[in-house]
Amino acid sequence: MAFSADFSTVADREAAVLAPYAMFSRDSRGRRHAEPSHPYRGPFQRDRDRIVHSAAYRRLSGKMQVFTGDMGDYHRTRLTHTYEVASIARTMARALRLNEDLVEALALFHDIGHPPFGHAGEDALNELLAEDGGFSHNRHALAIAEELENRYPDFPGLNLTREVLDGQVVRADKRAAAAAGDAPLLEVQIVDLADSITYDAHDTDDAVQLGLVDIDSLCQLPLVQDAARRARARHSPLSPKMLRTGIVHELIDIQVGDLLQHSGRQLIAGDFPSAAAACASNFRLGPSDSLRGPKRDLEAFLYANVYRHPRLVAVRTRAQERLRHMFEGYQRRPELLPASFQQRAANRGLRRTVGDYLAGMTDRFCDEQFHLHFAGEG
Ligand code: MG
Repeated sequence: MAFSADFSTVADREAAVLAPYAMFSRDSRGRRHAEPSHPYRGPFQRDRDRIVHSAAYRRLSGKMQVFTGDMGDYHRTRLTHTYEVASIARTMARALRLNEDLVEALALFHDIGHPPFGHAGEDALNELLAEDGGFSHNRHALAIAEELENRYPDFPGLNLTREVLDGQVVRADKRAAAAAGDAPLLEVQIVDLADSITYDAHDTDDAVQLGLVDIDSLCQLPLVQDAARRARARHSPLSPKMLRTGIVHELIDIQVGDLLQHSGRQLIAGDFPSAAAACASNFRLGPSDSLRGPKRDLEAFLYANVYRHPRLVAVRTRAQERLRHMFEGYQRRPELLPASFQQRAANRGLRRTVGDYLAGMTDRFCDEQFHLHFAGEG
């Protein structure tokens, strides 16, 4: 397609704004199925758009992050979590002059493989599929991207760039990635860091709003204490609600500021001439030594007092029982699977296919199908 030379190209924009160590579109290793380039969107913009238009992405709105839908309407869903990750990752990427298009695609993609009922669902599927290689939401994202989405006549899946898929491979096996001599792309690292910055802050917010923990006990933690002090320094006195939201803002700001001030400065000082050079020198972005401990303490507190709160353990137990029941049930009655999954079972085996089908469900659809087909089987 002829396109007016008056418009800026992706290459022009990247040349103007990206640092040398960023991942440039022109250096992309391309897609499994070759495609002509687009007249005005770069490869990572196309990845982002494909992800946003996928069914799996939209279903994130019906998947819980930490708290189920019946606990209220305030807290994060897997979709709003994803969007918070994308915006924090973009903020950091922009400050460091990394490729925001790639960062956005990676962030919007990072949790796309989550099954219903969060980590409870993931743990149940992992156990049920233990003999078949197990289940991880990070690996399932790759199956969605390469096989399960069916939207384009020319190829199965989304045919994303190698950079987005490889970024997800790093997420799927962090230990192997850490042991590898080369660091992942800086854009991949930024999204991973943004994920933990985001959930540390928003899980704190949601847990207090739901009354699972209180601000006073959280303020025993140095990181939250620091956030509260900063919130009060801006505005005093603060209502309990404004203190809570102030703490959340400060938790994000402290962590993002720390990353840019310490790790970000080291990156800039490293003066890497290319993305490949930064990877080859095994450069890792991360929290400073002084933040690492307080951050770990907050995460340990959230684990013990929120993720293992009796209200959540009850949800977890119920979800896992249902998934076990449905996993067996669909194997006994494969005719209940949609036609596309029945076909898939012929190649991939029934057990894995049932796992893939269950993993794609929203929380609500999972509950609905359980009641429709299996609840009476007790
Ligand atoms: Mg996440």
